[in-house]
Amino acid sequence: MEPVLVVVDAGHGGRDPGTISPYDDTFFEKDVVLDIAKRVEKYLKDKGINAMLTRDGDYHFNDSIDKDLLERADIANRNNASLFVSIHVNGYDLKFKGAAAVNGMEVYYLNKDTVYTDFTDERYAEIVANKIIEFTGIKFNGIKSRGLSVLRNTHMPAILVETAYITNKEDHARLKSNDFRDKTAKGIVDGIELVLDEIGAFEHQGELYVFKEAGE
Ligand code: ZN
Repeated sequence: MEPVLVVVDAGHGGRDPGTISPYDDTFFEKDVVLDIAKRVEKYLKDKGINAMLTRDGDYHFNDSIDKDLLERADIANRNNASLFVSIHVNGYDLKFKGAAAVNGMEVYYLNKDTVYTDFTDERYAEIVANKIIEFTGIKFNGIKSRGLSVLRNTHMPAILVETAYITNKEDHARLKSNDFRDKTAKGIVDGIELVLDEIGAFEHQGELYVFKEAGE
């Protein structure tokens, strides 16, 4: 029986810090998202859902941002992942008036043809977003369709979670807290488990989520 595989992508890394805190110049998106991604990987495995990180340390794949993003999607494609989730931290340009007030969480998706005929990327985003809100109580800015590289170039349902705004003081405190990171991870994981159930192509066999036998 082929096990399900979820590829968990921590955005940025290495020379690309992602968004940078305006309040603490040692606090970067790349570190927060790696921590959350590692928790997601662990909690998925605890549930019998096979998981793999695109990066497990502070490095990047390619000096070209385009190629770096392509490699993340390719890791999921090469490994025949069942689902892909990319984890990020948002930021708003503080030179705009009112920018520091912008806060909350968003989940991005892009509907495309995948092997699951009736299950859309949009539905994946909706389910996971609802679970994150349930766990963290963070303000929710909605699910949004966007042609982001990792969403376009993956062959399986994929979402990108913008967990919170590093440029907002309250969200900044959340991103620094163990509690928020953990709850975000647990929300993502519970959402993914619901998604596997809803797709219906999988079953829990022994300790592991596996593909159902064809024709069952
Ligand atoms: Zn990012």
